[in-house]
Amino acid sequence: MTLIVEKFGGTSVGSVERINAVADHLMKKHQSGEQLVVVVSAMSGETNRLIGLANDISDNPPAREMDVLVSTGEQVTIALLSMALQKRGNDARSYTGGQVSIKTDGVHSRARILDIDGAKIKSDLDQGRIVVVAGFQGVDIAGNITTLGRGGSDTTAVAIAAAVEADECRIYTDVDGIYTTDPRVVPNARRLKSITAEEMLELASLGAKVLQTRSVEFAGKYKVPLRVLSSFVEGPGTLITYEEEGSSMEAPLISGIAFQRDEAKLTIRGIPDHPGIAHQVLGPISDAHINVDVIIQNASAKGLTDLTFTVPRDDYQPCMEILNRLVKDLGARDVKGDDKIAKISIVGVGMRSHTGVANKMFKTLADNEINIQMISTSEIKVSVIIDESLLDKAVQTLHDSFELEKA
Ligand code: ADP
Ligand code: ASP
Ligand code: MG
Repeated sequence: MTLIVEKFGGTSVGSVERINAVADHLMKKHQSGEQLVVVVSAMSGETNRLIGLANDISDNPPAREMDVLVSTGEQVTIALLSMALQKRGNDARSYTGGQVSIKTDGVHSRARILDIDGAKIKSDLDQGRIVVVAGFQGVDIAGNITTLGRGGSDTTAVAIAAAVEADECRIYTDVDGIYTTDPRVVPNARRLKSITAEEMLELASLGAKVLQTRSVEFAGKYKVPLRVLSSFVEGPGTLITYEEEGSSMEAPLISGIAFQRDEAKLTIRGIPDHPGIAHQVLGPISDAHINVDVIIQNASAKGLTDLTFTVPRDDYQPCMEILNRLVKDLGARDVKGDDKIAKISIVGVGMRSHTGVANKMFKTLADNEINIQMISTSEIKVSVIIDESLLDKAVQTLHDSFELEKA
């Protein structure tokens, strides 16, 4: 018997109708002989609604209570879907993350899964039940409810697939696979039949929210067979592959373009340049659990240097406060910031064996009068920071110039 983990995102379970449609789909699969573990998100818009309620109550809602609150969205969906399945004759069981021992660290709102005990799930499966598990949530060692970061239900699904050694993990969403870029921004984007886990990891971490980054990390680590499909139309979707390195000779130059809108940039200027300065500036930012992304340190002039880095826009204000304190402590000149920037990245394993890819990107942007503010590269990606208002144009023109469109 094949054991499959299927995950349905918010839009796929966004109404009673949709939940019924998912239940019909699952019954068909179950009757065809698949053992099924189902992971669901909150109904679309629900997580945002809950966050909004918290913000109406408090300017700074306590992280622990926030997780208690936002995890309720998924609890609604597991119960409704299980009811729909029971109505159709399957003795389905719903479980919260804690009930199936999804153990995480204690970092609220961005916890990492440490361990899952698959035994309970397996015992239900053996009794012919469809098992429905709440995505996005777990419990820490002290029993506190934690959540895994936005989009975290993908990670729940892949982690469960690894724990129960599933034959495949299918992520059902509102697009029919992974595209060369977000099809909502570039209408002539092309669906990929497959993509390497390595490239998908880059695309996800650079902003393609179709899969949460951690889910791709998990998939890579445990080699979970992973596919992204539409819950609205049938089709093969996109398969994540685990090819050996070295096969990049025939790979396309660029596989995809990812972007991130909600970014901010901060510069601390005129810092006395001596060993340890990057640590002194970025240490307190990291201690505040803020993820720093692109970092540039200027060559020092007259013993002074500038350090510029980007952070998620939500972290702009706290970062600004930390840097303003540091200006005094370190004897720096001042702090500058811009919270209207975006990052655009081209990704492809083909870059390993071809030169000139970055240059082509820079020329395309220059030809379209898009100014590059920062650049960051790695073996299989080039990222640039640009003004947010130019983002859509930049994505479209790069998509055109690298000829990624549909044939
Ligand atoms: P779900 O609620 O099912 O988890 P998400 O909204 O998290 O769905 O992710 C699906 C969305 O990801 C799509 O609607 C699409 O707009 C966006 N997306 C961004 N980049 C890509 C890409 N390269 N391929 C497909 N979808 C993408
Ligand atoms: N409901 C959560 C969110 O909106 C988790 C998820 O959908 O994956 O981010
Ligand atoms: Mg998602």
